Amino acid sequence: MSRTYETFVERLHELADLSHAQGLMSWDQETYMPPRGAAMRARAMGTLAGLYHERLIAPELVSLVADLKNAELTGDAAVNVREIDRQQSRSLKLPKELVVELSQTESLGHEAWIEARKKSDFALFQPWLEKIVALKKEVAERVGYEGAMYNALLDEYEPYARAEEIAPVFAQLKEQLVPLVEQITATGQYPVRGVLDQEYPIEQQELLGQQVLADMGFDMEAGRLDLAVHPFCAGTSRDDVRLTTRYSADWLPGSLFGTIHEAGHGLYEQGLPADAIGTPAGESISLGIHESQSRLWENMVGRSKAFWTHYLPKLRALFPQQLSAVDLDAFYAAVNQVEPSLIRVEADEVTYNLHILLRFELECDLIEGRVAVAELPAAWNERMEQYLGIRPPNDALGVLQDTHWSCGLLGYFPTYTLGNLYAAQFFHQAHQDLPDLEAQIAQGELRPLKTWLNEKIHARGSRATASELVEEVTGAKLSADYFISYLWEKFGSLYGLSR
Ligand code: ZN
Repeated sequence: MSRTYETFVERLHELADLSHAQGLMSWDQETYMPPRGAAMRARAMGTLAGLYHERLIAPELVSLVADLKNAELTGDAAVNVREIDRQQSRSLKLPKELVVELSQTESLGHEAWIEARKKSDFALFQPWLEKIVALKKEVAERVGYEGAMYNALLDEYEPYARAEEIAPVFAQLKEQLVPLVEQITATGQYPVRGVLDQEYPIEQQELLGQQVLADMGFDMEAGRLDLAVHPFCAGTSRDDVRLTTRYSADWLPGSLFGTIHEAGHGLYEQGLPADAIGTPAGESISLGIHESQSRLWENMVGRSKAFWTHYLPKLRALFPQQLSAVDLDAFYAAVNQVEPSLIRVEADEVTYNLHILLRFELECDLIEGRVAVAELPAAWNERMEQYLGIRPPNDALGVLQDTHWSCGLLGYFPTYTLGNLYAAQFFHQAHQDLPDLEAQIAQGELRPLKTWLNEKIHARGSRATASELVEEVTGAKLSADYFISYLWEKFGSLYGLSR
């Protein structure tokens, strides 16, 4: 290996070490930091973020990248140069004043959003969102884009994805989802969810979560599970992955499915390639692929009949009073109830993506100037009615419900639906490669699936882009067909519907 590349890798390791410190500090902030620690923590994290930025665009690293771009690189070397070049050129194109103005606007905008949501008054947030959208458009203009301006924003979360490619896939999904939701709603079947919102003592919920984590193969020697108000998965490297969850004593699904979801993210992190640790090749490729791992485990495994064939008896042993009279069919129906609802984070598998498609369409419209910020609440409510047949009674339950836009996260929402689509496509392939998969899950043997995901997806790090990875693993381009078939198979039989 050339001396130039060795020096380049040394610099990458230093960048990774700075990220390591940032990761640990932000995990601590969400879990154990006492309230008064906030001010100094914000300062320390700001300093680290500044150091990272300085290091990333340091003249030495810029010229190393320039030299290496001219060399004939292959394998991880090519991936590392490609990724650092992408991050570096993005950073170099953004003047410091713009970065500072955006960050200040986002933090003030977020405060305004909290107040606006509390009072359900969009007008309080409107001027801030207008400013955020204007600044984001300036960012897009400066970093540059091909095709839609939205691509410049999307690239931050789903590198190399393009609105022109995902919009038709999403449109196909919507075309299928809207009538499916209508048909399910028309059955008037609402399984009794009372079984889920009884008293479930937290100590037993913890035992259950630990059991499932162990069965999934999450390595507690390279990870932890702690409590957080808003659960997430973070960490410092593949060898130190921090999961969080929260328990509610009167609502079983919250912690159970939340823990499985975060563990899906955690398995991806723990499965990243050891031989590329500390460099971009050893990192996850995109938020969409990350979310595919959590959704596959949470929904396709965790809400499956096979899974509950094994776990319901265990659950009954932990909660005999609550569940002795509940059979498998009733429990399975309860954890898969479909009902159009106003709040995205509480939505079921069938309606969830319609919440995302609405946001994606509105984001594109905002960025391309087809909808003005002032028109958002009305546009939101209209689409809710069209897609889900319900209309928010106020803005707190409508356009103001998510924190994302107030934090400047435009281009982020589509990664949730991409995650669901990737998950269904991967899970379909897993069934082809592992013919006994259903039987294994029904016996609580989750390791074969974990190993398959490790080999096919996790160990690839960012050596393939998200769309390359999907094609490499499944032999087909991203398509909504797999997810739609999955929904029909599962919910068609639950609701007695045929296609
Ligand atoms: Zn997630």
